Amino acid sequence: MTELERIRHSAAHVLATAISKIWPEAQFAAGPPVENGFYYDLELPHRISPEDFARIEEEMKREIKANHVFERVEISRPDALAMAERGELASLAPRGVASKFKLDIVQNIPEDETITLYRNGEFTDLCAGPHVMRTGNIGAFKLTHVASAYYKGDERNPQLQRIYGTAFKNKTAMEEYFTMLEEAKKRDHRKIGAEMGLYAIDSEFVGPGMPLWLPKGTVLVEELEKLAKEAEFAAGYVRVRSPHLAKEKMYKTSGHLPYYAESMFPPMEMDEHREERAKIQSRMAELERILTHDG
Ligand SMILES: [Zn+2]
Repeated sequence: MTELERIRHSAAHVLATAISKIWPEAQFAAGPPVENGFYYDLELPHRISPEDFARIEEEMKREIKANHVFERVEISRPDALAMAERGELASLAPRGVASKFKLDIVQNIPEDETITLYRNGEFTDLCAGPHVMRTGNIGAFKLTHVASAYYKGDERNPQLQRIYGTAFKNKTAMEEYFTMLEEAKKRDHRKIGAEMGLYAIDSEFVGPGMPLWLPKGTVLVEELEKLAKEAEFAAGYVRVRSPHLAKEKMYKTSGHLPYYAESMFPPMEMDEHREERAKIQSRMAELERILTHDG
C-alpha cells in the first residue's frame, strides 16, 4: 500500500468513527482506498445525503485533531467472533446487536490467517491494515458523494450506502486535485465537442455515449480516417473489411457470450421470416434443378 493509500484507508476508519458517533446503529462492511480516495460501505436506516457531510466532516476533524494512534491488536478467532456478536467491531462500544457484516467477514477469514483489530480512540474495527501512525497524519480530506452498492457486490445481498471521500497528505495537494478536476470539467470533450459544433449527443433517443456527427465533425472524422489509412499503407498494411454482425457461434468462440450476454444486443430473430425463407429456398432449389438439367 502506498503512503497515499494508507492515508486514504485511515480516513475511511475516521469516517466510520464519525458516523458511529452520530448514528451508533450503523453497520459497516468494507472501507478500502480506491483510485482517487476511499469509501466505506454501511447499512443505516437514515439515508445519508450530501447535506449530512458537514456534520460528519466536523466529527472527522475532531477525530483527526485528537491525533489518536491507530493501535494494532492481534486477536484469536473465538475472541473476534465473540466481539462481532456483541457488536463491538466497527463500533465505539458493544451494542445490542451483532456487527453482522464484520461477523461474516471474520467467518470467512482463512483458518491460518492472523486476525487483527485496529483501534483509534474509542473506535475498534476489524482490519488487516496498514494505516498511518496517527489520525493526525491525515493532512486533508473531503467527503465527495454517496452511492449504493450491494454487500460483496452481489445483488442477492443487502443494499448498502457507499460514502465516498478523498484524502491527501496536506491541504495544498488536495486543492491541486480539486483544481485539476475543475480544469478537466472545462475540457470535457462532451462539452467542447458540442460547443464547437462537432457533434450532438441525444441521450434520450440515441444514447449518452453516441455522438451524431455534424458536418464539421464529420470532416475531422474523415481526415483522421485518411491519416490512419495513409499511415497503415506506409507501414505495409493492407485493409480488409468484415461484417458488423456475426452468428452466435462466433461470440461463443470469442468468449463474449458467456460473460457479457446481458449487455449485448439480443440475437436477430429470423424465424418470423421462416415462410419467406422456405419460399426462397424452394425457388432456389428449382432454379438449381433447371440449371443442372440445362448443363
Ligand atoms: Zn483499516
